[in-house]
Amino acid sequence: MATNTTKQRISIVIPLYNESANLSILHDSLRTVLADLPDYDFEILYVNDGSQDDSLGIVQGIAKHNDAIRIISLSRNFGKEVATTAGIHAAKGDAIITLDADGQHPVELIPQFIERWQAGSKVVIGVRTSNQGEGFTKRYGSKVFYKVMNRLSGTHLVPGSSDFRLIDRFVQQEFMRMTERNRITRGLVDWLGYRRDYINYVANPRVNGDAGYSFQRLVKLFIDSIISLSISPLYIAAYLGAFVLPVSVLLGLFMVVDKLIGDPLNLHLTGGAFVLVLMLFLIGVLLLSQGIIGLYLSHIHSETQNRPLYVIDQYNSKGLVDAS
Ligand code: UDP
Ligand code: MG
Repeated sequence: MATNTTKQRISIVIPLYNESANLSILHDSLRTVLADLPDYDFEILYVNDGSQDDSLGIVQGIAKHNDAIRIISLSRNFGKEVATTAGIHAAKGDAIITLDADGQHPVELIPQFIERWQAGSKVVIGVRTSNQGEGFTKRYGSKVFYKVMNRLSGTHLVPGSSDFRLIDRFVQQEFMRMTERNRITRGLVDWLGYRRDYINYVANPRVNGDAGYSFQRLVKLFIDSIISLSISPLYIAAYLGAFVLPVSVLLGLFMVVDKLIGDPLNLHLTGGAFVLVLMLFLIGVLLLSQGIIGLYLSHIHSETQNRPLYVIDQYNSKGLVDAS
């Protein structure tokens, strides 16, 4: 026991939303992997994100027999990003590993993450090289996502970078200072910088159940990431305006020519048609710019409301953690 105090501690943060069917498989594989790493103390931090099924009951059951397990239960579903954040905030380890509960992140790679960390990387990122059993839209969608993000945000994100990652305690401390509500956890970690390393992995198919993110939610996630990491969309309106203005001037000139020397191209354009096309075009541009401004405004709005990021319903910390 005395040697325990000198061991480094590693926290494993796992967000849970209706994962009851996957939990025992996950826990078994975790136990096998961690048993081979006797040089470290582990704490496993389950963050129950307002599950409607028995996920909380199951992890509470597992925690009874295992002092290294802590549970944070949020008061409702706050979404994976916030749930992960809550876990990172509460983690007490020298390094923190985040992974999904659905079995998609191969826990066998945990030793490699730790190795890279010991070699000096402050952030170790799991890079998904291919994805068995995932839909075309999602795979293709993430390609587009990284293309657009790198273009817009200026931070370099490696395509396939996932939430399966390790961060040093140092990075966690800096992460705590980021208070924004609309957050993409991995985007924030990417923004922080630090020396990083990458580990390629092939994502397993989800063991049980459907991915909690519908197409609609993915689109929202995509838009939120762009808005939180980049202000370029605000420029789109300005660029559009700069494009529309000369075009409408040209159209106007065209109409004057049409009026003065008849219809050289034989288009039989009526004045009404011109006006209609022009109006539709301008209305489109206006709506688009308004929409973009609205999106930013909504982010400013939720930031200024300054609500707590998450609300904890139950907090169970014992064993390892109380001892510190
Ligand atoms: N998750 C969560 N809250 C949610 C949705 C998902 O905590 O609102 C958890 C989920 O239990 C899993 C991880 O986040 O551990 C990843 O979720 P999922 O597999 O649904 O997403 P994807 O694989 O598409 O990233
Ligand atoms: Mg998944």
